[in-house]
Amino acid sequence: MQLTILGCGTSSGVPLVLCKCQVCRSKDKKNKRLRASVWVRLKGKSFLIDTSPDFRQQSLRENIKRVDFVLYTHPHADHLAGIDDLRSFNFVQKSNIPIYAHEWTERELRNRYPYLFQKNTRLVGGGIAQLDLIPFDLDGPEFIAQGITIQPIPVDHGTQRVAGFRFGKAAYITDCNHISGKSLEKLQGLSLLVLDCLRFQSHDTHLTFDQALDYARLINAKKTVFTHLSHDFDFKKASRLLPKNIALAYDGLTVTLRSK
Ligand SMILES: [Zn+2]
Ligand SMILES: [Zn+2]
Ligand SMILES: [Zn+2]
Repeated sequence: MQLTILGCGTSSGVPLVLCKCQVCRSKDKKNKRLRASVWVRLKGKSFLIDTSPDFRQQSLRENIKRVDFVLYTHPHADHLAGIDDLRSFNFVQKSNIPIYAHEWTERELRNRYPYLFQKNTRLVGGGIAQLDLIPFDLDGPEFIAQGITIQPIPVDHGTQRVAGFRFGKAAYITDCNHISGKSLEKLQGLSLLVLDCLRFQSHDTHLTFDQALDYARLINAKKTVFTHLSHDFDFKKASRLLPKNIALAYDGLTVTLRSK
């Protein structure tokens, strides 16, 4: 399995527009963070978790050649707004792309992108993304997406519930401030965990650095990578605060796991 961090930035990205802080002015490429999503290659399939507003730029940078399906964590714009750019893959693949969404995401998709999901949309201009919306149960058991076994992991994102995903020995858990005991059980025995870590100060809907560290230790994956990072984190300085098996993500980071 290969997992590539397409973006590891919080909703505003880093640098923040107009911010003059040291991290936003830094020349270190690892302090340039597009909006959060990942690209996974597993068992001959190529899939995405979320389509960020930077998806077009991210797919060009990583030379993504195929998207077999997309898993959506939740419908906040920083995780969804690149959805229209899936149409470039439709043009080449000449087939619909299945997208998997739980109830909240499905509802928001239908409200905010009616033209993508109404069968009788009149096409004007260059066409629209051809997507098959497939609902999944956030609290349900594993489901099979195009031959890949996916375990949804519900986590709390303020008052909302968001999907994390486990696939084989890897899991992606973004945008959360609490993980229940039941979900923690589903995260045992991981080789790779990608985990939300917004900033140092407390936040109503995201894990802080200390909270992310606590969960990382509790889950105890062989390797943990922190993502959804704000401009609080200078890559070099913050990396020094982390134990050996925990790292800050950076855009373009690819982790390879041998089995599954
Ligand atoms: Zn987010
Ligand atoms: Zn800044
Ligand atoms: Zn969010």
